Amino acid sequence: MNKLSKLYVFTQRRTFTGRGPIAVTRYWSTSKKMSGESNDIKWNDALTPLQLMVLRDKATERPNTGAYLHSKEPGVYHCANCDTPLYSSNAKFDARCGWPAFYEEISPGAITYHRDNSLMPARVEICCARCGGHLGHVFEGEGWKQLLNLPKDTRHCVNSASLNLKKD
Ligand SMILES: [Zn+2]
Repeated sequence: MNKLSKLYVFTQRRTFTGRGPIAVTRYWSTSKKMSGESNDIKWNDALTPLQLMVLRDKATERPNTGAYLHSKEPGVYHCANCDTPLYSSNAKFDARCGWPAFYEEISPGAITYHRDNSLMPARVEICCARCGGHLGHVFEGEGWKQLLNLPKDTRHCVNSASLNLKKD
């Protein structure tokens, strides 16, 4: 098999696994830290079993149980694993969905977006850009912008277990 055909096979495989960044929407990131390719991540020893299940194994905490669901404290939400700032409390809103909701990340590039085919229709998974830890999923066009007069009609549905609030 020559180099070109090897490349072709590789490309096809990536297409079928659905793990790679897919240029369908502006969400698909070109980050190298992609879902399911996180073997090199260093996990913080201080993480609880639940935090590890969410951040590493992409589990979802039970709705209406997270520590930050109703928090209105001003501050910055950091990644519970690597301490990277991810969300400002200014972008938090009450979506009554059972998990903390934010309309945008704290700065462009703070999180990465990945296709998640585990449920149909496919969802967009969000991860910490630095360590690859799973945060939750992002949804667009649900009407929150109009309803709550937000700058964006985007809901980042984030597990409290993935976050650590540093109060102002
Ligand atoms: Zn992180």
